[in-house]
Amino acid sequence: MMPTTDMDGRRKEISNLMQDIKEFLKNGFKGEIQEPLQLIKYYWEVSRRADQLIRLTLGENGRLPVDIELLAQKLGARVVVEDLNEFPGWKSMNRRIGQVEIGNSFFTDEKMRTIFVDKKASFHSKRYAIAHEIAHYIMHYNDRDYYEDYFIMPMCPKELDEIVADIFAIFLLIPVRYFFVEFLEYVKRKMDEGGEPIATEQWIRYLAEKSVISDYYVAYGYQQLRYVAYWIYLAWHGDDDKEIFNCNDDTDSETRKKMSDEDREQVRRETEDYYTEEMGDWLFE
Ligand SMILES: [Zn+2]
Repeated sequence: MMPTTDMDGRRKEISNLMQDIKEFLKNGFKGEIQEPLQLIKYYWEVSRRADQLIRLTLGENGRLPVDIELLAQKLGARVVVEDLNEFPGWKSMNRRIGQVEIGNSFFTDEKMRTIFVDKKASFHSKRYAIAHEIAHYIMHYNDRDYYEDYFIMPMCPKELDEIVADIFAIFLLIPVRYFFVEFLEYVKRKMDEGGEPIATEQWIRYLAEKSVISDYYVAYGYQQLRYVAYWIYLAWHGDDDKEIFNCNDDTDSETRKKMSDEDREQVRRETEDYYTEEMGDWLFE
């Protein structure tokens, strides 16, 4: 018998998860999100899907840095390094660093799914570009044809999908569980070195080195990591009787002011294998 059963099962699991993430990324960023707690919950929902995807494709016991190219390959995309800024007549003040193309090959009619990265981009930027394109890829891998390209800052996104792709990219490159583990290690090392209060810039730089992305993207993503950390904190230490936010509007807002029991149980279930009280004490002291 061919030992393919496990592999087929894994492939099926990945495919189901990709479908779930696709639906969520395309439809999740709307509606109730203007409520603070719902926005925080949205970040949690993105982060837990990134976490599931990484553990399913790259294994349960990972650490930073995430092998983002391998992740793309495991999801069925080829990663190709090319010069993305040398088209004839191409002129832009902004640099294209990533691109995703889905469609049938002109020659063989075979379905092609490719993430391109700019060969002149720095290693760190290439990693970010791949993560960003993975988000688009997941939103469109079943499309007949799809094309998207990514330009590095400083220009701003002009579509909602771009914002969603950036949010997801950060959680792929800095999964929350790795973030917690790194933070705890960092704090302990600092204590051993004499217990100076932690400077944010140093910690951001350390996290950038560990995750192998630029300081800029860590800083950019830090707020969303904090939101998720707060959500996890609420699940483990939140006071049931306390309203988290004093919203002014009084329309059936009970559920928006508090974390529901269902949410609390979900977070506890999904973080219990890495979240410890010690981490909580340091992160939220
Ligand atoms: Zn994009």
